[in-house]
Amino acid sequence: MAGMTSRSAAKLIRPLVRVLHAYVPGEQPKIKGLVKLNTNENPHPPSPHVLAAVRAAVDGRLRLYPNPTAQALREKLAKLHRCQPENILVGNGSDELLALATRCFVEPISLEGRATRVPKKNQPGTRVARPSEAVQYFTPSYSLYPVLADSHGAAKNAVPLKPDFSLPSVAELRRGGQWDFRAALTFVTTPNAPSGRGHSTAELGALCHAQKGVTILDEAYVDFAAEHALPLAFKHPHVLVSRTFSKAYSLCFQRVGYFVGHPALIVALDKIRDSYNVNGLGQIAALATLDDLPYYRRNFQRIIATRAWLGRELAALGFEVLPSQTNFILARPPKFPAATWLEKLRVRKILVRWFKQAEVRDYLRITIGTEAEAAALVWAARKILSAR
Ligand SMILES: *Cc1c(COP(=O)(O)O)cnc(C)c1O
Repeated sequence: MAGMTSRSAAKLIRPLVRVLHAYVPGEQPKIKGLVKLNTNENPHPPSPHVLAAVRAAVDGRLRLYPNPTAQALREKLAKLHRCQPENILVGNGSDELLALATRCFVEPISLEGRATRVPKKNQPGTRVARPSEAVQYFTPSYSLYPVLADSHGAAKNAVPLKPDFSLPSVAELRRGGQWDFRAALTFVTTPNAPSGRGHSTAELGALCHAQKGVTILDEAYVDFAAEHALPLAFKHPHVLVSRTFSKAYSLCFQRVGYFVGHPALIVALDKIRDSYNVNGLGQIAALATLDDLPYYRRNFQRIIATRAWLGRELAALGFEVLPSQTNFILARPPKFPAATWLEKLRVRKILVRWFKQAEVRDYLRITIGTEAEAAALVWAARKILSAR
């Protein structure tokens, strides 16, 4: 490396990557006794059968490649969702699949396009690229989507949700003039993160019906919701539903997610997938998970009950708590700015999430933990409010 300065090394990197703002994951600090309510992990461990299955698989077979298409898992998922394995694609977490979809369905902006399409300020509805090139999503929603668009060199169309974070109707989107019904790829987080709000299948159906490009319903939190939109993936060839074992099934560590959709889209995505994208222990853990669904359903009910309890307690302390269909709540705290609450809670070894984006900067996003963790949060909030 002699002679290479950091500046000359930087020249080797594509300009697009040099200026890229990477996704910022929630912190994973190693603090003893920390109540960790910042990354929407499930507070309950995987089922004992899942742990046993993973342990039993850890031996000399680790030298072998895993099944390249996660075939057994696709078959089991197909049975669960009453479809064919051809309707299912498994990924290294659903994040990998969202990235694959961006590469598969969206044309990057051409170089000459980049030079000529300078966005004009203060002109609502001005598009930076031909509509069919855009990656589109609502704000606020999952903050990975803009990063996927940027790293692919694709145009972005970010359209605000309504002030209460509900979904604008198709008529409202048409009137607003900013929504692109021809966007190459549209991401809808449903239920929404970070607001926690659920969107009805009827609303989502109307949106999917109006949309021309590929539409991904990102259902990472759907197991905590009243409704799911899987039927839309079977009804519309351009709709994919994204699911994950991470949040509801306590498997963040193993990285397993999947898409459900039309075989034509699945085949296309499969072409550009890494051959061994899903690691073997992840496949085994996900398979064992599907053999013990009643265990997980009990946990969903516990989390939903704790969510209701925590919402009532925080409301009684003066928090404005938004309705949630997820394993977290978004709440506007009283007395101090949300960023101050973040620090005051951290001092008391409770970690929650705060986002600096304008629409949500007055709120805290709080993962629903165990009953004891939720009680610890309420206790700490009471102390913070009564301190002089
Ligand atoms: C956590 C999350 C994901 C990613 O899940 P993985 O399967 O762990 O990659 C996708 N979408 C949303 C909205 C999420 O919150």
